Amino acid sequence: MRQVHKRTKIVATMGPASSKKEVLLSMIKAGVDVCRINFSHGRLSDHLVVINTIRELNQKYKTNVGILADLQGPKIRIGMVKDGGIHLVNGNTIDITTVEQIGDDEKIYITYPSFPKDVRVGEVILLDDGKLQMRVLGTNNKDTVNCEIIHGGILTSRKGVNLPNTKVSIPSLTEDDLANLEFALANDVEWIGLSFVRTAEDIVDLKRIISRSGKSARVIAKVEKPEAIDNIDAIIEVTDGVMVARGDLGVEMPMEQVPVLQKMIARKCREASKPVIVATQMLESMITTPRPTRAEVNDVANSVLDGADAVMLSGETSVGEFPLIVIETMAKIIKNVEDTAYPYHTPKKLNMKSSTYNADAVCGSAVYLSEKTDAIGIISMTSSGYTAFEISSHRPKAGTFIFTSNRVLLNSLSLLWGVRGFYYDKFVSTDESISDVNAILKAENLIEDGEVVINTAAMPIEKKGKTNMIRVTVVE
Ligand code: PGA
Ligand code: MN
Repeated sequence: MRQVHKRTKIVATMGPASSKKEVLLSMIKAGVDVCRINFSHGRLSDHLVVINTIRELNQKYKTNVGILADLQGPKIRIGMVKDGGIHLVNGNTIDITTVEQIGDDEKIYITYPSFPKDVRVGEVILLDDGKLQMRVLGTNNKDTVNCEIIHGGILTSRKGVNLPNTKVSIPSLTEDDLANLEFALANDVEWIGLSFVRTAEDIVDLKRIISRSGKSARVIAKVEKPEAIDNIDAIIEVTDGVMVARGDLGVEMPMEQVPVLQKMIARKCREASKPVIVATQMLESMITTPRPTRAEVNDVANSVLDGADAVMLSGETSVGEFPLIVIETMAKIIKNVEDTAYPYHTPKKLNMKSSTYNADAVCGSAVYLSEKTDAIGIISMTSSGYTAFEISSHRPKAGTFIFTSNRVLLNSLSLLWGVRGFYYDKFVSTDESISDVNAILKAENLIEDGEVVINTAAMPIEKKGKTNMIRVTVVE
């Protein structure tokens, strides 16, 4: 069957390598669906320029590229160190202090004021993505923790700290996060990511702030701590989407567990109709080389097979040398899996107890019908986005074409597997709207004469209720 677009989406992290208008445009044409603004790096003024560029390109080229603003959350770092780097020697001891100072081989500063009170003797401290490791020998419960160096090496300024065993008491949203969140909401970003989520309450708190601001941004829970794995069901229930943040997850948990955790999270997210992003080191070697390793090609392909809605690029597109080639490579890998290995998912079961059972059953049946009729597309109208999330979660072979009059929603939907969004605001009658939206798709050559299409709608149209109707037609 005709299959023009890739279904699995690409999230590209913005940075100096990708924020120029021409580069970004070429990346979008090659397959970028969502741009990630990472508040761990760069200034707000730089982020604003990128946001404006994305909006401008969306307008000019009629694309719906979404923005994911990624909050740092309770990320811990060490301070500046002297001479551009200090040498930590195995077996030596070193103090970690909460008093800000330039670090040397006797003492380094940590950005976590209650660390000496929260930490216990014997706990592990990992630095620089786990490359360096220490163990706690003692704490004065005030401002200093004494450690033994287990795996030494060169430690440079501002490196990240992971405390896999420590019950970290830093709030889920720091003061920096609140300022960045305000900026993100003021600029109407579609998705807000929260790093180091521990409990469902972290997400509920963030959503409360967003709804108080009157905005409709949706939330991505970044799963990168053991507590988040323990609470995964409750987190998936309250969040709008999830990121398998393998960079930190593979430091906080034994990294050999990450592949199986990725599959578990992807499966649970699809069951709950919540989009899931697989992130970090997907094409890492392409930061400096124009061709990926075979293992990286396998990783992208297997993430698609695991059921990811989207695969993410970090350094590859933010600071790498080949941002466009990276996107082209990733898009080719995705397309090949989708063209040659579909279907790669198990059919989704309906939850009889769900309060949305009727609408879910209609969406599931629309997908079933699309398979029975070998339909080219499932075409739906939505005001809340519900139908798009639900249909996408079934991973239909047919294209998923979603029409809405909500522009923020339109860009949000770019993250969802297989969904293509279109602006449409003339909701007169069901018959008229269906023939309108079908005509729009025909004009764009997305559906052709003789092909079967499935339309869904909520009747009566003016009630803006949940999807309750399916129609099967042959395009003419
Ligand atoms: P980060 O999140 O790039 O913001 O750290 C992703 C990850 O940890 O994998
Ligand atoms: Mn992370």
